[in-house]
Amino acid sequence: MNQDHLVVVGASLAGLRGAEAARKAGFAGRLTIVGAEPHRPYDRPPLSKQVLGGSVAPGATTLPILEPLDAEWRLGSAVTNLDRIGRTIDLEGGERIAYDRLLIATGARPRPWPDAAQRDLAGIHTLRGRDDAAALRSALAARPERVLVVGGGFIGCEVAAACRDLDLPVTLVETGPTVLAAILGVHLGSVVAALHEARGVDLRFGSEVEAFEDDGTGHVVRARFADGRTLETGCVVVALGAIRNTEWLAGSGLAFDEGGVDCDADGYVLDAEGRPDRAIAAAGDVARFPHPLYDGRFVALEHWGHAAAQGAHAARLLVGRGTGEAYAEVPAFWSSQGGLTIKSVGLTEGADGLVIAQGDPKTGRFLALYGRAGRCIAAVSFDSVRWLPAYAEMVASRAPFPPPGGAVDQSRLTMLTPGFPGEDDR
Ligand SMILES: Cc1cc2nc3c(=O)[nH]c(=O)nc-3n(C[C@H](O)[C@H](O)[C@H](O)COP(=O)(O)OP(=O)(O)OC[C@H]3O[C@@H](n4cnc5c(N)ncnc54)[C@H](O)[C@@H]3O)c2cc1C
Repeated sequence: MNQDHLVVVGASLAGLRGAEAARKAGFAGRLTIVGAEPHRPYDRPPLSKQVLGGSVAPGATTLPILEPLDAEWRLGSAVTNLDRIGRTIDLEGGERIAYDRLLIATGARPRPWPDAAQRDLAGIHTLRGRDDAAALRSALAARPERVLVVGGGFIGCEVAAACRDLDLPVTLVETGPTVLAAILGVHLGSVVAALHEARGVDLRFGSEVEAFEDDGTGHVVRARFADGRTLETGCVVVALGAIRNTEWLAGSGLAFDEGGVDCDADGYVLDAEGRPDRAIAAAGDVARFPHPLYDGRFVALEHWGHAAAQGAHAARLLVGRGTGEAYAEVPAFWSSQGGLTIKSVGLTEGADGLVIAQGDPKTGRFLALYGRAGRCIAAVSFDSVRWLPAYAEMVASRAPFPPPGGAVDQSRLTMLTPGFPGEDDR
């Protein structure tokens, strides 16, 4: 084991779990954790759920530290530069820190509203961090006449659900055909949409916000749609997905873009020529890596469990306690919205078939299995998590799809088309 200086950039879930894993593996060298935010690592999933709902205070989301860290913390200072030749990083403010091993865990941030002037209007929110959640929670507590959510991904859906929990009128606008279409496909996205509609969310699909207008004092008052219609609103949540925090890697020679920093199967970052740098690994939302379960396709995940697991894997690798095996954790995600808990295992991307393997969408409790080229690639449970482990095994072992009779409680499985946007073009 090497006992030199391990520097972790990104003081959140992947960085913290990485630092803990290094210590747990016996790393006794110097450990520095650098984070752009002023906060100690905290948990993000409650931000769009319990925090907005008011049952958990933003400050009560701090992650527990599971291992004595004996770390030097540099919080509130973003890293602006990486010099791989000199093995140093620069912090805003000018401090330079030398590393022997570096863990990149800088995560992601919300994709901003494209118009810079409109994005800064008061009343326009995004949701990624604790401070964002605190600001949005205060705005909701002021009981706006209507909240507008732009984007029907998981965050948009969870925010809309939280608004209805607070009995606030909310409109959700999505350019696609339904919510979660890119993740679950139209078939199951429509099931989620029906839930939100039944709870009073005003859903507008195939609809595009073109601009926000202000009241002359810099506060948003109105959204203008591409079809010319308008919606009066003083509270907007822009939920257009995430981009990875990789700008600080410019000039480092690493292969990166806003979709992540490329890694090899172990987790070492790759340079622009595809060569691994064995002093640096990446983990969590920022890492894009070849997943063995999906034929080595490069994926960048935004899953809590993955950030924790890959953070630990990458740190063990850096301190010389790697397993020698490629990182192969099966992707898993959950979301709760409007009383519904969705849990998924695997990745639905590229699915060419879908079966309802357990339960019935009409009852709201069911499990859907996605397949591609005759293999199970993902399972998604709706309020029926007890069924998930068996199907997770089928996904992990790439079992034949559709599953043979007896593996499910349905006498006959109907093969459905998932309905991913652009599916017809393939
Ligand atoms: C509102 C919300 C709800 C979510 N709900 C769920 C859920 O229900 N289920 C689920 O599975 N997942 C959920 N997720 C996803 C999950 O929280 C993320 O996958 C996880 O936080 C990723 O951890 P990370 O450490 O890789 O990145 P992050 O948590 O994004 O942390 C990266 C850290 O690096 C810091 N940083 C960035 N750039 C720099 C720099 N240049 N220098 C220093 N520090 C830097 C950032 O400020 C940040 O603190 C949710 C995410 C959000 C935002």
